[in-house]
Amino acid sequence: MNKETENKLKQFGDLESNVSFRNLTTFRVGGNAQNVFYPRNIFGLTNAISICRQEGIPFKVLGNGSNILPSDDDFEGVIIKLTRYFIDYYFDDETLYAQCGCSLIALSYKAMEMSLSGLEFANGIPATLGGALFMNAGAYKCEMSDIVEEVQVLVDDDVMWLGRDQCQFSYRSSIFQRHPEWTIVSCKLKLKRGDHEAIQQLVESRREKRRSTQPLNFPSAGSTFRNPEGSFAWKYIDEIGYRGKRIGGAQVSEKHSNFIINTGDATATDIRTLADEIIEKVRKEHNVDLKMEVEKFNWKE
Ligand SMILES: Cc1cc2nc3c(=O)[nH]c(=O)nc-3n(C[C@H](O)[C@H](O)[C@H](O)COP(=O)(O)OP(=O)(O)OC[C@H]3O[C@@H](n4cnc5c(N)ncnc54)[C@H](O)[C@@H]3O)c2cc1C
Repeated sequence: MNKETENKLKQFGDLESNVSFRNLTTFRVGGNAQNVFYPRNIFGLTNAISICRQEGIPFKVLGNGSNILPSDDDFEGVIIKLTRYFIDYYFDDETLYAQCGCSLIALSYKAMEMSLSGLEFANGIPATLGGALFMNAGAYKCEMSDIVEEVQVLVDDDVMWLGRDQCQFSYRSSIFQRHPEWTIVSCKLKLKRGDHEAIQQLVESRREKRRSTQPLNFPSAGSTFRNPEGSFAWKYIDEIGYRGKRIGGAQVSEKHSNFIINTGDATATDIRTLADEIIEKVRKEHNVDLKMEVEKFNWKE
């Protein structure tokens, strides 16, 4: 990016250069992002996107990077993050209005404080609200679509509201995955007044369950593979004998075999190689096509 473009962008927010994807993803791997841009407001977001489009600069909106496997290559474009300025929220009775850079875990605690039920499932998901809507993140038989009323999206230069049905939510899927050029800006969630103690107990029991079943002491991106219809990815991984399998610094977790963890010095290539090997073996031995839930980003193929 030339100096002139840099200066244009800087009018609309904070621009940082050469930021490692280790600091932008929960896997803590990957090359550098040449530019990371934090728009100050919707005007800055709209302008930044149109500058990138006009100048042919690739860009990608990232949340907390908790579902991303970037390559070890540098990304010669702009990562747009809403986590610095798009973090306002407010409650109006049982409705929560929130901007998409908010932490889902923080919102879940806030809802609990207000004795509002509906976000207990989200307490251990290290997402931004935007990333959670994009993925229709969920756990314990609950998901974002259960509480979404409307989502505000930037489409080209227009900001529009989509009702829940228009978001086409299904298992870890939404219309936003089919429109990666859209940016989710904010949303309206419908919660329900409940008993504070009961909400707190549910949150705590879910957190305890996660601690006892997931390798939370290692960097990861949560579940690596989507569960195939009617079954569980971890079962196939166990059946091919890959629980604990290591490639370089990447390892299939001993605690939960649908988690690939970074044991400390993994490269993105180590993780990708291990995931590809699992897909290949499960296909050969079980005739099942495991699909990655984690999104690969900036890979040549
Ligand atoms: C320890 C751990 C536990 C996890 N547990 C769960 C779980 O229980 N359930 C679950 O569903 N997931 C889980 N995950 C995975 C992950 O947290 C979710 O997929 C989450 O929704 C990703 O949110 P994010 O903000 O990190 O998005 P990112 O990983 O940053 O991005 C994911 C995708 O969303 C897009 N995106 C992000 N923000 C926007 C926006 N504002 N507008 C448009 N597109 C956007 C990005 O471009 C990207 O394509 C877990 C991950 C970890 C590390």
